[in-house]
Amino acid sequence: MKCNLCKINEADKTGSHFLTLSFIKTAINEAGRGERDREIVFKLTSGKDLDIEPYFGRKILPEAIDKVLNSEVKFDDFIKNHNPFVEDYLFCTECENRFAIIEGYFISNLYLKIKSNLLETERDSKGNRVIKIDSQKGLLTRLFFYVQLWRTSISKHSFKLDEKIENSLRKIIFNCLEKNIDATLDKCKENKLEILSHPLTVTYWETEIHTENKFENTTNLIYFHDKSKRPYFVIINDFVIRLYRNKRHLNTTPNHFFGFTDLIDTTEHINIDQDEFTIGVLVDSHRRKILDGVIGQPVEMFFKNWKKRIKEFHIQIFGFTPTEYVLKGILLEIIYSDEITLDKYNSEYVIKVISKVFYELSQKGEYDFKFFEKTI
Ligand SMILES: [Zn+2]
Repeated sequence: MKCNLCKINEADKTGSHFLTLSFIKTAINEAGRGERDREIVFKLTSGKDLDIEPYFGRKILPEAIDKVLNSEVKFDDFIKNHNPFVEDYLFCTECENRFAIIEGYFISNLYLKIKSNLLETERDSKGNRVIKIDSQKGLLTRLFFYVQLWRTSISKHSFKLDEKIENSLRKIIFNCLEKNIDATLDKCKENKLEILSHPLTVTYWETEIHTENKFENTTNLIYFHDKSKRPYFVIINDFVIRLYRNKRHLNTTPNHFFGFTDLIDTTEHINIDQDEFTIGVLVDSHRRKILDGVIGQPVEMFFKNWKKRIKEFHIQIFGFTPTEYVLKGILLEIIYSDEITLDKYNSEYVIKVISKVFYELSQKGEYDFKFFEKTI
């Protein structure tokens, strides 16, 4: 198979991360470690068979998995051979090396500086901080995000750009990526009009909090909105990206995006045709609010799915359909047992909750405890 970028060489690379690993590692890795095979990924899907499916890299310690899952699980049970952000034979070695140039540049020159609050900020009309970077850095920033979106789109991931924009991004990436950053920047300047033609907002949100000298990562996500195309809406760890196909789409009715659109004034944050590049900054409390919304939608579907399964499970064990009261009891137990985090929506945990509620009901005399004990 030919390389998806150059379409000339054979795609010989295995294990290509279509999202830059160092960019997403705090969303998926054990704290403090950044190696491959140490990823912890929660794959959030909203398809028919909704599930929040954990993926664990091969070297993760079983204790760490237990901690994440908040339950006693067997390590081998959760080892999956397929990492959702890695794919083989997408690119050739040469193109993969060219990707590394822009990835390395963005991570060291912008990402780490933004995370460490080293860049100057202004305030926008809504009181959010805004980082303004110069045209050169802006072109390279765009290129970096185009690489993330385009690589995901051409992979087996469910996120797909329209063919026209996918081809346009491929052309930009192919024409601009060179063997070093200076040559890449020169190419970006040559292709400036094409690069700037896609309206784009980039918003960074604080994902780390400092508490009493303790440095902790907060829960984060990798999320591709599967319905919206005007604009495409993507959360990659601590960045929210909205990409429009063209200027006309800026005038379409804005999607709410879990409250994101209310927090960010698109006309102030949009990058289109201008030299200066704007990166918005959202505070942690806003991030949490939006993530609650993002998680809430699939979770709602998740509950519908589980309601059906709880019923089946109940009939299997007790021989009759549970009352709405029992069903509600189990679902409420899942929702309110702790702060909302993804790890509590895994199957093991839910089964634990079901068992607990059944047990409690049996203690109240509503179920035959002996029968329950035997069956579970
Ligand atoms: Zn290639």
